[in-house]
Amino acid sequence: MTQSALPADPWLLTPGPLSTARATREAMLHDWGSWDAEFRTLTAGVRGALLAIAHGEASHVCVPVQGSGSFAVEATLGTLIPRSAKTLVLANGAYGKRIAEQLSVMGRACEVLDTGDYLPPEPAEVERRLRADPELGWVCVVHCETSSGILNPLAAIAEVVARCGRELIVDAMSSFAALPLDLRELPAAALIASANKCIEGVPGFGFALIRRERLAASAGQAHSLCLDLHAQWRYFERSGQWRYTPPTHVVAAAARALELYAQEGGQTGRLARYTRNAERLVAGMQALGFRPLLAPRWRSPIIVSFLVPGSARFDFERFYLAIKARGYVIYPGKLTSVDSFRIGVIGQLFDAQIDGVLAAVRSALDELDIADGAPDPAVVAAQPAF
Ligand SMILES: *Cc1c(COP(=O)(O)O)cnc(C)c1O
Repeated sequence: MTQSALPADPWLLTPGPLSTARATREAMLHDWGSWDAEFRTLTAGVRGALLAIAHGEASHVCVPVQGSGSFAVEATLGTLIPRSAKTLVLANGAYGKRIAEQLSVMGRACEVLDTGDYLPPEPAEVERRLRADPELGWVCVVHCETSSGILNPLAAIAEVVARCGRELIVDAMSSFAALPLDLRELPAAALIASANKCIEGVPGFGFALIRRERLAASAGQAHSLCLDLHAQWRYFERSGQWRYTPPTHVVAAAARALELYAQEGGQTGRLARYTRNAERLVAGMQALGFRPLLAPRWRSPIIVSFLVPGSARFDFERFYLAIKARGYVIYPGKLTSVDSFRIGVIGQLFDAQIDGVLAAVRSALDELDIADGAPDPAVVAAQPAF
């Protein structure tokens, strides 16, 4: 199960698409008619399993939509947020900024609380903004901001939003199914994720778990025909089918991936493996002199950002290619203020792959004639303590 079907495939230590199980890829070796009862059963199973992961059976419904994760985010925003409403977007990275951009393209008013590249939004500041402007009816937050790997303080933010009587939409794309998310306790109108992150499926659809009454009350609000999750939901309920051509093979892969997920022990099993991967990675990188960007309390067991080595000989492109030549794909940084790169720990990765990427990093440093990964002390000194 841990071996790639094609030895030539590099291991993906990225935020998705991920290295998937062979059984998940093999599930796609069939063709389905979208109208057929077998495929409807597959879809119903996937929708039910996704809802159960966040314990939303009693309160929420699962609405999948064709496309990548951002399509599901856009569909959720446009479907749930009334055209006249104003939204507070908490942004500390590319995905929070994308939400603000999506709202602005669809003509929905928003205010952005931007805490920069990787500082967490403070719940007290969120409360201050909401009290100051009663028009802010909705709040959007990214759970794990994959740009830096920071795990934002979701529970505390959700508590503030609920106490102020506003609605919360959570981009849980890179945390869903790995970190605990319990809709019996978390007051969220919607949680959004996609097939190709921690459920370890292949890319092709995203989905939102939406509070049933909220969705029922949102008919006709969407800015888009295709990205209307109310219409999509009604269609699933009425016919068991997707509106418009479904990503049949992707749904079959997701169904298989969800079986493997259950076999691994569900959310707790998966979190245990990802945590082990992250700890092994950070310890190994620190032994090579590298420094993680974030303090331990903000780090996620999803993806870890490291400061680039201080050596003048460091060149990310050459470093990346040297690592890839050894069979591992890492990820560039996405920060504006400091040079960094990222290594993901999600997907079908185990001790062997973490040890393998660490060995590849060591060889890449040798190839670039760099003694170790130690960052420029001036860059380290300039890091905020948080
Ligand atoms: C991956 C991801 C998305 C969606 O990205 P796509 O490229 O559209 O799949 C959105 N938010 C976060 C936090 C993500 O990690």
